[in-house]
Amino acid sequence: MTIADFIIIGGGIAGASAGYELCRHGKVILLEKENLPGYHTTGRSSAIFQKSYNRGDPLLNILVTASEDFLRRPPADFAARSLLTPRPLIYIAPPGQQDSLDNLRQKLGEIDITTDFISGQEITDVIPVLSPQYQDRALLEQGLADIDVGALHGGYLQGITARGGSIITNAGVTGLGRNNDRWQVTTKTGQFQAPVIINAAGAWVDRVAGLANIAPIGIRPLRRTVIMVTLPDDICPDSWPIVMDVSENYYFKPEGGKILMTPGDATLSPPCDAQPEEIDIAWAAHYLEQATRLKVSRIARRWAGLRNHVADGHPVAGFDAHAPGFFWLAGQGGFGIKTAPAMGRITASLITGGRLPQDITGRGLTRDRISVKRLR
Ligand SMILES: Cc1cc2nc3c(=O)[nH]c(=O)nc-3n(C[C@H](O)[C@H](O)[C@H](O)COP(=O)(O)OP(=O)(O)OC[C@H]3O[C@@H](n4cnc5c(N)ncnc54)[C@H](O)[C@@H]3O)c2cc1C
Repeated sequence: MTIADFIIIGGGIAGASAGYELCRHGKVILLEKENLPGYHTTGRSSAIFQKSYNRGDPLLNILVTASEDFLRRPPADFAARSLLTPRPLIYIAPPGQQDSLDNLRQKLGEIDITTDFISGQEITDVIPVLSPQYQDRALLEQGLADIDVGALHGGYLQGITARGGSIITNAGVTGLGRNNDRWQVTTKTGQFQAPVIINAAGAWVDRVAGLANIAPIGIRPLRRTVIMVTLPDDICPDSWPIVMDVSENYYFKPEGGKILMTPGDATLSPPCDAQPEEIDIAWAAHYLEQATRLKVSRIARRWAGLRNHVADGHPVAGFDAHAPGFFWLAGQGGFGIKTAPAMGRITASLITGGRLPQDITGRGLTRDRISVKRLR
């Protein structure tokens, strides 16, 4: 039986960021059921940093903004350089929906995000392949970036081991019970004990809670598809912006000389090793051909991942009122990478001090907005 102060279940970005912050306060053991901690959603994202995510959702804006400094200037022992590479975004709208661009601009202005209209040649200058129907007017937003997800996730995991914690892979949790104020955790590789458990099992959080007969929070894994399109040799997209449909139905961006494209699908799925469906791949190719002059003749890679949401689309970080020492860290949907630094700090602060970090309350977040209680 191995004893720790904190046992984290799940080694994706949520569990890794929480472990990194918690190992300043005690012994951390992180248990991951797969061979690779980033195997599920964390390794399948589009890696975008965006403060205006979800059409300027104010709560998510707080969490992304509170994460920016860490991502932009990580500690020297975490990463040698910034984890963000600037890449602007343009929103496009078909001719009949130009009003939506004005509405979006106003909405983003309400959370202090400035955008500018660009048109004609200005659009062609930033992305020469856009379809003529989108060239009248587009909305340009600066301040977005590509995130180096490998370096972020890897930095968290290395930080845990450097501070004396343990990361145990191939250690799916199969049993959970509380005895003498400690949680007893069973995996096929061994037994573990700690007074506090952090349930960061992504799509599986309700299943993990079920092992201890704890009521679910109603996690909804929503499958999203990504294709990587190979371009003709004479087209280099590296400096292009992210291009997003104004309704956030689809978006595409350059990635290593190719185009990363998602059709914006959100299909309810059981927790699983998500795989792309042919119909969603076809939609992705269709949207890209319709938005640009490109022809999708070769798809270099395709994948799908689960974006895990609770009912109100906001994350969950807090103790379960009916299960002492059982902490939920869940519901990171499509924003779990860009909010990981803030969510990791929030988790450690709630567990060790019972309150949110001061800088985050200063931005207007309260505990009840991310609590488990709001879902029950
Ligand atoms: C297509 C797509 C695009 C996205 N784009 C972005 C983006 O641009 N920017 C952004 O910020 N976010 C994005 N996201 C969202 C982001 O990827 C997720 O919010 C984040 O990765 C969730 O991390 P997680 O740690 O909660 O989940 P996961 O990475 O899934 O980690 C959970 C882990 O728990 C483990 N586990 C489950 N059950 C057990 C058990 N019983 N015992 C032990 N371990 C267990 C799993 O194996 C898994 O590794 C995107 C997601 C998708 C799918």
